[in-house]
Amino acid sequence: MARLMPAAFVGHGSPMNALENNRYTDAWSAFGAAVPTPKAILVVSAHWYVNITAVTAMRVPRTIHDFYGFPQSLFDVQYPAPGDPAVAARVVDVVQPSYVGLDEDSWGIDHGTWSVLVHMFPKADVPVVQLSVNAALPFDYHFNLGAQLHALREEGVLILASGNVVHNLRLIDWNSPGQGADWAHRFDDDTRSIMTSDPAQLGRAASHGDYARAVPTPDHFLPLAYIAGLSAAANTPTRTLVDGYEMGSLSMTAYELPAA
Ligand code: ZN
Repeated sequence: MARLMPAAFVGHGSPMNALENNRYTDAWSAFGAAVPTPKAILVVSAHWYVNITAVTAMRVPRTIHDFYGFPQSLFDVQYPAPGDPAVAARVVDVVQPSYVGLDEDSWGIDHGTWSVLVHMFPKADVPVVQLSVNAALPFDYHFNLGAQLHALREEGVLILASGNVVHNLRLIDWNSPGQGADWAHRFDDDTRSIMTSDPAQLGRAASHGDYARAVPTPDHFLPLAYIAGLSAAANTPTRTLVDGYEMGSLSMTAYELPAA
């Protein structure tokens, strides 16, 4: 059997993590340093949440600064990794009969991707391809699409999903650095018991009593469905890479699907 590249879900949190060094970014760096050099990185980012499934297919993806109200130093960050049109074409192939559009000139590398990759692969020398999160389709679609991407792990592509398990910006409490509200802990803990035992059951999270507060919109949660699908396809549960809470209503939990 072909060796499988690792895969991971990362809770990216604030864009400022791109410039900071903390225990989350240390874990991302350590993960990148430990994995075999990938042929390419396919990133499912919460910040490309659109009504279509698309994959970036340009040779030179631009760095997108898709936020406002942050210091100029964050707008100055560039992540000059090349694209990989051949890997984009493979994504189109392996998910058939699902349709994925090739994006030649619209998107690029958004901060859900580069705020993590500046730590994980600081040299920006591995090609990066992004997959959008289709806002029009339900959880099962994303889970199944993730499972279909399994073939790419056998081809040396590292699959990274970037979001946050608990992500409620309306309930941010600036007086709670490093802390999570009780409901945030409950949802993150119960999600973790699924992800570390039987990720195929992740869909059950939608009936959790704290789901509406933890996941007020699905954009940051759905990237996890891809790693759950990959986990089910590999018949291997994920393990926790790093965890923690910020400002009451964000969880930073990251999961690793190890090489096999
Ligand atoms: Zn985000």
